[in-house]
Amino acid sequence: MSSAPITSISLQGKQVDILRLELEHPDVQGNKWYKLKYNLQFILDNGYKSIMTFGGVFSNHLHAIAGVCKENGIKAIAVLRGENDEENPTLKYLRSMDVECLFINREMYRMRNMPDFIAQLSAQFGNVYVLPEGGTNELAVKGCSEILQGLETKYDHILCAVGTGGTMAGIISTPGLTANVIGVSALKTDKDTISPVIRSFIPDNNTVDWKLYFDDKFGGFGQYHGLLHQYLDAFKTTHGILLDPMYTGKLMYKTEQLISSGELTGNRILCIHSGGLQGWEGWYYRYANKYNPQD
Ligand SMILES: *Cc1c(COP(=O)(O)O)cnc(C)c1O
Repeated sequence: MSSAPITSISLQGKQVDILRLELEHPDVQGNKWYKLKYNLQFILDNGYKSIMTFGGVFSNHLHAIAGVCKENGIKAIAVLRGENDEENPTLKYLRSMDVECLFINREMYRMRNMPDFIAQLSAQFGNVYVLPEGGTNELAVKGCSEILQGLETKYDHILCAVGTGGTMAGIISTPGLTANVIGVSALKTDKDTISPVIRSFIPDNNTVDWKLYFDDKFGGFGQYHGLLHQYLDAFKTTHGILLDPMYTGKLMYKTEQLISSGELTGNRILCIHSGGLQGWEGWYYRYANKYNPQD
C-alpha cells in the first residue's frame, strides 16, 4: 500500500482525492524520495562514495539530494545552472549539508546530458555516481512506479505535476494501473520535449492512456504570477492543504479547469501532491517584493 495519507476535497462540484506525499518524509519530501530510493540502493551496493547531479539554484531535487547524502555519508556535488548567491536559502541549505556547489553558465548547462561533458566534469571527483537533472533515470522511474501501490484500480483519472517527466513515467508504469494519467507540466513551451522522455521510460507493452499539459497561464517555470499566488493562498484556506509554488499549484489549478470543462468524465479522481514545500523559501526570497495579497 502507498504509505501516504489521502485527503478528499471538493473541487468544482466533484470529489477529488489528494495523495499527500508531502507528508511522508520531513527532509526528502514528496516524489523525490521515490526517485532517489533505488538510486541510493545502487550507490550503496556498488560502494560509490560520491554523487554528482544537476539542477537550478532553487532545485527541490538538489535539496533532497543534500539530505539523503548527508544521512548516508555520501559526498554530494551539485552542478548548478547560474551564479552563486550567498543569500539564496536553497544554496545556504546545500552548503550547510556540505554539498559541493559548482556553478556553470547557461550555455555550459545545456551540455548537462552530454557524455563527454559529464566525464570531464566528474573526472576531478574520482569514482562518482552521476545522476541526471531532476534525478530522472530508470531507477528513479522504478521508484515512482511504487507511488500508487494499493491504488492501482481505485481511480478513473490520476493527475500529477511534471518537471522532467520521470515521476509521470513511473506513475504510468505502475503495474496493473487502470486509470488514465494526466500530467501538468510546470513549464511553458512551444516544443514538447517531455513526452519523448516519458515515452522512453515506459515499457513498450504499456497500455495506459496518458496526456500531458503545459503551463499556458502562469508564465512558465518558477515565474511569479499574481493569480497563481492567490490560488495557492485560497487553496490553503479552503482545503487546509499547502501546495508548493512551482508544481502542485499549477496541477490543482489545471485539475479544476479540466473538471469544469468536462474533460474529466470519471468521478474517481486522484491528484498527487508531490511535495516541494521547501520551494516556498526560495519563492519568498525572490518574490517577497512582488507579493501583494490583493493581486
Ligand atoms: C521535482 C518535482 C516534480 C517534478 O518531478 P519530475 O519527475 O521531474 O517530473 C513535481 N512536483 C514537485 C513538488 C517536485 O519537487
